[in-house]
Amino acid sequence: MRLLVTGGAGFIGSNFVHHVLSTHTDDEVVTLDALTYAGSKTNLTGVLDNPRHKFIEGDIRDRELVTNLVDDVDAVINFAAESHVDRSIEGAKPFVSTNVQGTQTLLDAANEAGIDRFLQISTDEVYGQVLDGTFSEDDPLNPRNPYAATKAGADLLANSFHTTHDIPVVITRTSNNFGPRQHAEKLIPKFIQNAAAGESLPVYGDGSNVREWIYVEDNCRALDLVLREGNIGEVYNIGSHSEKTNLEVTEAILDAVGASDDLIKFVEDRAGHDQRYALDTDKIEALGWEPQYSFEDALERTVDYYLN
Ligand code: NAD
Repeated sequence: MRLLVTGGAGFIGSNFVHHVLSTHTDDEVVTLDALTYAGSKTNLTGVLDNPRHKFIEGDIRDRELVTNLVDDVDAVINFAAESHVDRSIEGAKPFVSTNVQGTQTLLDAANEAGIDRFLQISTDEVYGQVLDGTFSEDDPLNPRNPYAATKAGADLLANSFHTTHDIPVVITRTSNNFGPRQHAEKLIPKFIQNAAAGESLPVYGDGSNVREWIYVEDNCRALDLVLREGNIGEVYNIGSHSEKTNLEVTEAILDAVGASDDLIKFVEDRAGHDQRYALDTDKIEALGWEPQYSFEDALERTVDYYLN
């Protein structure tokens, strides 16, 4: 298979590129990434010289470039996005531009080229918060922050291109990822580095917000499975059922790094902070996937990665 991976120099995209090249030895990958503050070619160390891999620095909103690249592949996997909720609260414009218009540009190019698969990488945040129970793929979208709203917009757009233009779209919605190659602005890498440096760990509100944490390698295996075996026109939730409050995650990090709980500093809560996300994962499990890493094992590997 020839794949165009957008946003492949970011956290999950780069882990996915490494995963595909090592597990599918006939596949060829083109990585397209604008190298914003969040992307880095360092994340692709080890595959930059691989003859089956090509890196292109460029923007998913550049129609001419995207048209040329989509013409030469079988599938598009769209990871490229502005991804940090706090930044979207400070200013939503780049989020609308990349997450919505960028996706539209890719869909237009895919429509013209005629491809076998368009995998749109989305998030559990599009459903909004759930205080009890879990969200299934059929639940209505109710995004509550600008980042999530633009991701929901991209999902709806992708689905509409499937319905009206017959583009072979599949959408995945994954819970919070952690693991190697994540930008230091995100909770787990930031807290590991702060704990190791003896700096405070700023926990929003009272730390009771719950997230479902999945190790990035488990997510990449699920995305790869959906890419190859998921049903066209469908959505797949991907989650680990490993629910933790932010305070529990913070304490686990302090414990793993060997730092004191005194470093915990409660700070003013994020505006509109969703209380809890949780996913029903029956559909992805029916394809034969389950997570391989417990939260504890994955955190140990992640701490090792950031400290070494
Ligand atoms: P990230 O911020 O680490 O990476 C995003 C990448 O996209 C970066 O390399 C950046 O340079 C690139 N990019 C941004 N704008 C671009 C543009 N206009 N053109 C080309 N490239 C551009 O994000 P991530 O955490 O790896 O998330 C990847 C995808 O997965 C996103 O779509 C995100 O919504 C989704 N997602 C993330 C999580 C998570 O926990 N991190 C969970 C569920 C879904």
